[in-house]
Amino acid sequence: MKSNSSKKYSWQTALAQAITDPEELLELLNLDKNFLKSAQQASREFPLKVPRSFIARMDKSNINDPLLKQVLPIQAELEVIEGYDQDPLNEKQFNPIPGLLHKYHGRVLLTFTGTCGINCRYCFRRHFAYEENNPGSAGWEKALFYIKEDSSISEVILSGGDPLVATDTTLKTLTEKLTQIPHIKRLRIHSRMPIVLPERITQEFISAITASNLKTIMVVHCNHPREINAEVKHAIQSLTQSGVSLLNQTVLLKDVNDKVDTLIELSEKLFETGIQPYYLHVLDKVQGAAHFDLNLELARKLHWGMAQRLSGYLVPKLVCEQPGAPAKLPLESWEFCTD
Ligand SMILES: *Cc1c(COP(=O)(O)O)cnc(C)c1O
Ligand code: SF4
Repeated sequence: MKSNSSKKYSWQTALAQAITDPEELLELLNLDKNFLKSAQQASREFPLKVPRSFIARMDKSNINDPLLKQVLPIQAELEVIEGYDQDPLNEKQFNPIPGLLHKYHGRVLLTFTGTCGINCRYCFRRHFAYEENNPGSAGWEKALFYIKEDSSISEVILSGGDPLVATDTTLKTLTEKLTQIPHIKRLRIHSRMPIVLPERITQEFISAITASNLKTIMVVHCNHPREINAEVKHAIQSLTQSGVSLLNQTVLLKDVNDKVDTLIELSEKLFETGIQPYYLHVLDKVQGAAHFDLNLELARKLHWGMAQRLSGYLVPKLVCEQPGAPAKLPLESWEFCTD
């Protein structure tokens, strides 16, 4: 029997059907098999994973497609380059109990899940020991206790991995528990799902994260204007209509978004979609991602290029992370003010 082609698949199905075989990815995009061997090798270190709806936004027969570059495993990842480490942010040091990072004043970050809807090749968590760091339910009680005991904490950030890999029931339970802690005012969710798998943003999900008196913020992660299509716009609209504040962070990536015009188009498209540009990160120096790195001078030039042509609120903050610093460090562009 033929299945009904208009049948709506659940987000779990969409997630399970993400492409993990390099050969299948190359076939879907009409790409040369020459790329297969290195893709297979590099995916053994960090697996390929990309949802079909994200692949549908790529150009066919274009190995330089900016969306493809973010997910296709390549030979360069296997080169060990000095200065690029496995734990560039030295996160183990800020890990008082498994699953909880308390690095900055007033907010804690829960590494809520070990997996994501997509595997981004430049990810600074590509070597992170999620298995060791998965606290299990007893561990979550410890994390909640830690949060309860420290009244200087007013915001809880769910990160990962991608917290939207968790079920709505899990997210709802956690939201309810956080609501009972009087000093917690805000729930912030860092997720790339609204961009890469917009099917994830269901009414059930929105109810799970907004059914409390906490202010809810979602920080999405979008690197290129072509990542935003009609489905993404629809997902974002449902979130904003439910009172969720939307921010975006972008990672500066060589040959993906290292042009002023691309970054300007991204900021404008984000804002038009209902998302406020927040951070522009320089790459964390993680082993296997050196080929995505830009030098700081170019990063500042790109940022200053944006500032000269955009309204101030459309210019994200250019930051880098330094182990031990009390905040993400702004990289000022003042040195270009005589240009
Ligand atoms: C980035 C980050 C935060 C949030 O920082 P903001 O500047 O508030 O966005 C919190 N905790 C950790 C460990 C982080 O890496
Ligand atoms: S979605 Fe975020 S955490 Fe997950 S692989 Fe991509 S960059 Fe890393």
